[in-house]
Amino acid sequence: MTQVFVVNSGSSSIKYQLIDSRTENVLLSGIIDRIGEPGHAADHDDAMRIVLAALGDTREITVVGHRVVHGGSRFTRATVVTPEVEKVIDRLSALAPLHNPANLAGIRAASAAFPGVPQVAVFDTAFHQTLSAEAYTYAIEADVAKAHGIRRYGFHGTSHKFVSDRTAAQLSRPLSDLKLVIFHLGNGASVCAVDGGRSVEISMGLTPLEGLVMGTRSGDIDPAVLFHLARVAGMDSAALDDLLNRRSGLLGMTGTGDMRDARTAAAAGDEAARAGLNVYVHRLRHYLGAYLAHLGGAHAIVFTAGVGENSPETREETIRGFEWLGIEIDRARNEAPERGVRVISTDASSVTVLVVPTNEELEIARQSLACV
Ligand code: ADP
Repeated sequence: MTQVFVVNSGSSSIKYQLIDSRTENVLLSGIIDRIGEPGHAADHDDAMRIVLAALGDTREITVVGHRVVHGGSRFTRATVVTPEVEKVIDRLSALAPLHNPANLAGIRAASAAFPGVPQVAVFDTAFHQTLSAEAYTYAIEADVAKAHGIRRYGFHGTSHKFVSDRTAAQLSRPLSDLKLVIFHLGNGASVCAVDGGRSVEISMGLTPLEGLVMGTRSGDIDPAVLFHLARVAGMDSAALDDLLNRRSGLLGMTGTGDMRDARTAAAAGDEAARAGLNVYVHRLRHYLGAYLAHLGGAHAIVFTAGVGENSPETREETIRGFEWLGIEIDRARNEAPERGVRVISTDASSVTVLVVPTNEELEIARQSLACV
């Protein structure tokens, strides 16, 4: 039996899964959280020792796969970690100050805990390295952009890749023949245009802040809002970062960053909740139109992650109004309480609309194993 150990190391938690690579079954999973808080694991090494104890000694781990948020322009695919790779991930912390150092701490802890087992870094950005220059370039002074690596990188690539493959399997067509628009709607949210298996547009940019309205992030905003607030409200960069990343989005507009709670409030007549949801959906529709234009049409529109998989209202509100293109949701299919991969459009719809549950851990396991 070969097993892949998948690690998602954040600043204060380590999530892990042990996956049987043949059956792709999850043998064990867990989370060590509150790292660094009194009464909990002191640091990532300490947390990894707790994980090791949970694993016991019946394991046959072939490879450890790590989620790494930012791979910059350097990493176009999953990569076996070497000291040089560690250095680059560390250097890329400038672009992802909250994520890359935590990811690296997980890599270092796992290297110590599993001596001799290859460690593979699977980057959220890698899938989007196929973007064209016109899609990834911000129209700012070229020298400044170059000096600081300012461009669109995109995120959620592991999920968009997994969902692309799963959608092609569901449609029984080669991915190379398909044009897809994939909405990954979780706490973080992004939409990706995939043409023949290659990411050609992604709503997230230099950081995961750009694009859709998210649980607590604003998504797209006029950058002049920042200078304006600095001037009139005296906010510094830390306060602005906090505002846009943690106090905006659904939370900022409705008082809750959780789609379920926002929907419940709106259904009970809460006007701020309804208005906030309208902004959320308006942005989804804006991107759907744009990405259909970029792709020159699509074979499928796919919804995934917490909101995408579980909120029929959000799916229906996003697609409503695209009937002029022949795209039609089937109400009963959309509202059926199923959980797996499913088509929710009518048989006559010009574009197939699907719900495809994502599985980033499994994709990390597959890519890690393929690497070794
Ligand atoms: P993360 O990005 O943290 O992995 P998830 O993919 O789990 O997040 O998505 C979390 C979001 O999914 C939350 O906004 C949550 O309210 C929403 N969600 C989960 N279940 C439902 C549901 N049944 N109906 C509507 N929204 C849901």
